[in-house]
Parts: sequence; structure tokens; C-alpha cells
Amino acid sequence: MNVEVDLTSLRLLVERAGDQLDSAPATDILGWAVEHFGAAWCVASSMADSVLIHLASRVLPGVDVVFLDTGYHFTETIGMRDAIPAVLPVSVRTVLPLRSVSEQDAEFGPRLHERDPGACCAMRKVEPLNRALAPYRAWASGLRRADSAGRAGTRVIEWDTKHDMVKLNPIAAWSDEDVHSYITEHGLLVNPLLSDGYGSIGCAPCTRRLLPGEDSRAGRWAGTAKTECGLHS
Ligand code: SF4
Repeated sequence: MNVEVDLTSLRLLVERAGDQLDSAPATDILGWAVEHFGAAWCVASSMADSVLIHLASRVLPGVDVVFLDTGYHFTETIGMRDAIPAVLPVSVRTVLPLRSVSEQDAEFGPRLHERDPGACCAMRKVEPLNRALAPYRAWASGLRRADSAGRAGTRVIEWDTKHDMVKLNPIAAWSDEDVHSYITEHGLLVNPLLSDGYGSIGCAPCTRRLLPGEDSRAGRWAGTAKTECGLHS
């Protein structure tokens, strides 16, 4: 088998599917993954809400859900992680960084997130995700074009050059209203912090409540130039 040719064919397939399914329902986009990869794909979730997890469980009951436990999450986020498999047919895989917070503190000094958030995210998010995705051929994220200007060009199916695999963004085209309607229609679990002033949920030391008029991700690494943790770029 010529791996290079296969990879080229797959990338062309992904390019075409990204165009053809751009306006398709999210379950059709996830169904495309089932058609091509069977169960060899997963959902990555920050546990802000359970919309993507619910959609994925409808097309592939038992689907793997990867959760990166950085050691810095809000209690509410860990509560979501624990509650979701009790109400939805999914398998949550908690992935830990190579170093505990105290081991990182001992090696790099305390509160690395204040001094070098890029290095902290690299160790507590990026490396664990790379490791977690290794067994799969595709992964699904909840990125939406409405999240921020930097995400406005998100495609529903794309080639992830960073991980050399397929990435699905099934709700890329959804508005905030679409998300709220789906949550209400299906009575889904939502991180309580979203109704307590937070617009996007990340690690506690790097996430603050939104100020009036701010876009949903403005509370992440506020006051720094950092806007993404490195998982999607
Ligand atoms: Fe560290 Fe903050 Fe990144 Fe979490 S979001 S891994 S605490 S820098």
C-alpha cells in the first residue's frame, strides 16, 4: 500500500466533504465520519456544554469523549465530566498531563500560567491531546465561527495538519441561538458557569467572567495576547 497516495486521496476526500457538507446538519457531518472511519474517531470536549457530545452519541452510541484534565479546572467542569456519562451513552476518557501540577511547580516554578501560559498549555493541553488522538483517524471539536474573529473561517470538515488526521467541526455554522435552542430542546447538561457570567470555560486561573459587550472567548487569558491554547491552531 502506498501510504503517500492514500494520504493524498484522503485529503482530497476531506476537501470535497468540507464543501459538500458545509450547510449539512451536524449529524450528517458526524455520520460522514462513521461512514469513513467507523468508530475510529472521538469527540474532544472542554465540558462547557454537552451539545457536541449529544450529537455524537446520536450517530455513534458509546463514542469516545476525550477530556483533558489539566489539573486547573473549575469544580463545575469536573462535575460536568462526571455527570455526562450518567445521562448520555458515551465513554469519557480523561487524559492527564505527564506532570502533576505540583511536579510542574517543582520543575518550572509555581504559577507558570502567569509567566508563560504558552509553555503551560503546551504541557497540560497540547501534549496530552496529541497523545490522546493517536489511536483515532478523526476527531470532532465544538469550534464555532461565532466564537471569535479568529474562528470565523472554521470548516465543518478539514484536514488537521498539526495531527495529520481529519478534524470535524460539526457545529461550526451554529449561532449562539442555535446552541441555546438545541440545549433546551434536548434538556442537555450545561456547565453552570455559563449562567454565572462566563462565556467560555477553560482553566480557572486563565478564565474570567465577561464584561458587557465582549465576545464569548474574551474572558480567556484576558489581558494577554494569547487567544487560543494551541489545540486548534
Ligand atoms: Fe495552564 Fe492556563 Fe493553559 Fe490551563 S489555560 S494549561 S492553566 S496556561
